[in-house]
Formats: sequence, structure tokens, C-alpha cells
Amino acid sequence: MTINTKTAHASNYKAASRTAANIGFIVIHYTGNQGDTAKNNADYFARQAGLNASAHYFVDEREAWQSVPDKDVAWHVGARKYVHKACRNANSIGVEICMLDKAGRVRQGSIDNAAKLVRELMAKYRITSTHVLRHYDVTGKDCPAPMVADPKLWATFKQVITKPEKIEEDEDMYTVYKTIKDVPAWARECVNDLISKGYLKGDGDGQLDLEHYMLRGLVINWRAGLYQ
Ligand SMILES: [Zn+2]
Repeated sequence: MTINTKTAHASNYKAASRTAANIGFIVIHYTGNQGDTAKNNADYFARQAGLNASAHYFVDEREAWQSVPDKDVAWHVGARKYVHKACRNANSIGVEICMLDKAGRVRQGSIDNAAKLVRELMAKYRITSTHVLRHYDVTGKDCPAPMVADPKLWATFKQVITKPEKIEEDEDMYTVYKTIKDVPAWARECVNDLISKGYLKGDGDGQLDLEHYMLRGLVINWRAGLYQ
């Protein structure tokens, strides 16, 4: 999905240089406002200094806005006391869902979009769904309130992010992807990773010659974590 960027005021988060290895959790929040938009929130955190709070992403039913870069630490689950043993600001990504409409009802479209974003983040940072938590699970705070009040709403969200992603079938099954440039988007991160780890070498001249079915197999195994 397309992610817009408006970086928060520098006083609202901690600059860091985290790598994928430092990011082990995704924490889900709701903004608590009624009828707000992801962009309004990103604008607000960019404009206002000294908020002592921040999140990496804001999502509504139309779009996602990144407010704090993934490599930096947002202040979204800080607390004096924790319920969760390991998840903290320093090792997590915070996703705020603009969850309520003007009447205070749940906006399912925002939740659906958040699920899409979370799936992408899970793939990018190799985070399993057991490491996707509600703010409530980390500190006991009533956030995201609708998903605390109605555990089914949370269970469904977890189901959606856990469901295996459908691999695009529109490519011809006899296609041979000659170089990394020919590799389709759904497999590119996997192939790049396997090349960087030295598992995929091709002929050493950038020529990979990957057959479609072989590529599917690689991606499935890679998602299962078989190539470490
Ligand atoms: Zn929260």
C-alpha cells in the first residue's frame, strides 16, 4: 500500500539507527478521536513540539501516513509498569488506527487498512503475528479501546494478518526471470535477501534464470524462515 510521509517534530521522538534486527514487535493503538484522519494526525505531530508522544504510522480507511521513521524510536508504549515482558518503545513499531467515526462507532475500513500495513511490516521485519500486540497487552492501557472491549474485533484482526498471502498468479507459469529486474514484486525482497546471504548466485554475472515455480517455492520457504 502507498505510505505517505510527514515526519513528526524532532522533539516528539528519539532519533536512533535501528535495523531490522532491533525491531521485534508491532503495537496497535487507536487515536481515540472521532472522525479524525491519518493525515490530520501526521500534520499535528509534525507541527506541535514537545508532545512526549508519537507513533510510526497513522492509518485511516483511505491512507497511511508515516510520522516517525521505522529506524527511530517513537514514544507509544512507555509506562511505569509493563504487563508484557519484552515489548518496549525501543524494539517496536507503533501503529495508530483512526478507529472511530464521528458518532464513536468503529470504522472497519481503517482497521482493514491497518491490517494491510501490518502485514507489510511483518514481512519486512520478519515479525510473526504473536509479536503483534495491542497497547493493552503491553501496559494494560485501554487502547485500542474498541479492541479491548470486544476481543472478537482483535481476534479477527489477528486472523487477517495471519492468513497466508495469496501469491499473484497472473504471471505465466513458464516465465523465466532472468535477472533481479525481471523478478516480480512479490518475490523481490526474498530474492534480494537470498542473494545477499549467498544462497542465490546465478552465474555470478547477475544472470539468475529463475523459473516461476522455483521462485514460488523459494518465497514460500523464505516466508517460513528456512533460509537464515
Ligand atoms: Zn495506545
